[in-house]
Amino acid sequence: MPAKGEVTVVGAGLIGLFSAHYLLESGYAVTLLDAGAPGGGAARVNGGWVCPARSDPMPSWGVVRDGVRSLIPPYDGSFFLRPSALPRVAGYLARFLASSGSGRFARSWDDLDLLNRQTAPLVDELVEAGIIGDLQDEGFLILHSRLEDAEAAWASLLAVSQRGLAPAPDPVVGREALLELEPGLGDASQFGFVHRGDRWLDPSRLVDRLVESVVARGARLEQDTPALAVRQRGEQAEVATPRGVVAAEHVVIAAGAWSEELLRPLGVKGYVTPGKGYSFSVFPQYPPTHVLRLGDTHVGVTPMGDHARVVGMVEFDGTREGVRPERIDFMKRQARPWLSGIDWDASTEERVGPRPMTPDGKPLIGCVPGAERVVVATGHNMLGLTLGAATGTLVASLVARGPAAAVPAFDPMRFSRNPFGSG
Ligand SMILES: Cc1cc2nc3c(=O)[nH]c(=O)nc-3n(C[C@H](O)[C@H](O)[C@H](O)COP(=O)(O)OP(=O)(O)OC[C@H]3O[C@@H](n4cnc5c(N)ncnc54)[C@H](O)[C@@H]3O)c2cc1C
Repeated sequence: MPAKGEVTVVGAGLIGLFSAHYLLESGYAVTLLDAGAPGGGAARVNGGWVCPARSDPMPSWGVVRDGVRSLIPPYDGSFFLRPSALPRVAGYLARFLASSGSGRFARSWDDLDLLNRQTAPLVDELVEAGIIGDLQDEGFLILHSRLEDAEAAWASLLAVSQRGLAPAPDPVVGREALLELEPGLGDASQFGFVHRGDRWLDPSRLVDRLVESVVARGARLEQDTPALAVRQRGEQAEVATPRGVVAAEHVVIAAGAWSEELLRPLGVKGYVTPGKGYSFSVFPQYPPTHVLRLGDTHVGVTPMGDHARVVGMVEFDGTREGVRPERIDFMKRQARPWLSGIDWDASTEERVGPRPMTPDGKPLIGCVPGAERVVVATGHNMLGLTLGAATGTLVASLVARGPAAAVPAFDPMRFSRNPFGSG
C-alpha cells in the first residue's frame, strides 16, 4: 500500500515506538529520531507492569504527605524531593498540589480509564501479532503484615474491580497459604491476597521487538539524532537536528521527560517534569511467580525469568540521570523484611529512568493549536507501558484527522490555558 504521508516521530521510547507501530498500521511512512538509542529513557528501566486496573493517577494527599516527609530528617521516602531542586520543580509542584484533592483525583482516574479500557484488547492483539512474546498473567500478590491492612487493601481493590478493568481480588489468606504460593517470603509477609487482571512483561524485550517490527515494515530509525526544535511551516512539519532539518507532513513529539524543551517554543506549557524511578535486579533462591507488592512501601518486585526486578521511588532532584546509591539502599531496606533467600549485596543492573510526570497525572496527547501537524504524545507518568498502545492508536487518529480526533481530557494546552489545568 503506498504511504499516506510521512511522519517524523521524535523519541524512540515506549510512546514513540507504539506511535510508530500504529502509524505504520494506518499506512504512513515513519522516521524515528532518537537522541541516543531506542529505549534509552525510562523504557528499559521500568517494572514491566501492564496494569490498567491499578492506574490511579499519582496526585493525591498521601503522596503530598510523603513528599513533605522527605524534606525533613531522615530525608527518606518513596516520593523524594531534593530541596535544591525545588526552584526547578516549583511550577510542577504547585499544579500537582492543586490536582491532589479528592474530586480532581477521581476525575483524572476516570479520564485515564478512557485509554485503559483499550489496553487489554490492544495488548492481546500485540501478543497475537508476535510483538509481545512474554506476557505473564499469574496475578499480583498484595502483602501486608497486619490483617486489618490486608483487608483494607482488599476492599480498595474490590472497589477498583467495580470500574470493570479487573476481577474481584481473591480472598485474604494467612502466612501458611502465602508460603504455598511464594516460598520466598520474609517475616513481614503475614497476610495477603492475589489480584488478577493486570499482567507483566520484560520491557526491554518489548522495546527490541517493537524496533525490529517497525524497521521490518520500512520505518527509518535515526539514532544519536536529537531534535533541537520542532515547527510547522506551511504544509510541512520540520524537525531541526544537528545533522540538518528533517521535513515531513507531520511530527509527533514523544521525547518523554525531555519533551518540555520542545513544547515551550510551540506555546505549550505542559510542566512535564522528570520523576526519577529506580530499578535493580536480584537473584532470589525462590524466584517469585507473581508480581509482589510489599505493604505500604511503594516497592514492587517483578519476576523476570532467572531474576526479579525490584522497582520503586519517584525522585525529584532536578536531573534526568544519575543513580544515587542512597536511594537504592533505601529500597533494599524497605524490601528486605518482606522477602527471604536474597543476597541483597549481589544486586545488579542498578538503574534510573526519568518518568515524564505531569501535574495531574494524565498524559498530554493532542495537536498543537496553530501548528496542527505537530502532535504531542508525552507525560505518561508511571504508566507509559500500560497506556502506550492506546496512546499509539490515538496518535495515528490525530495524524489522520487532526484536532477532530482530539480527546479533551488529554488536551496538551490545559496548563497553558488554565494555570491549574482543570476543565
Ligand atoms: C522505575 C520505573 C518503573 C516503571 N514501571 C512502569 C510499569 O511497570 N508500567 C508502566 O506502565 N510504566 C512504568 N514506568 C513508566 C514508563 O516507563 C514511562 O511512562 C514511559 O517510559 C514513558 O515513555 P516515553 O516514550 O514518553 O518516554 P521514554 O520511554 O523515556 O522515551 C523517551 C525517548 O526520547 C528520547 N529523546 C529525548 N530527548 C530527545 C530529543 N530531543 N530528540 C530525540 N529523542 C529524544 C530518549 O532518548 C528516549 O529514548 C516506570 C518507569 C520507571 C522509571
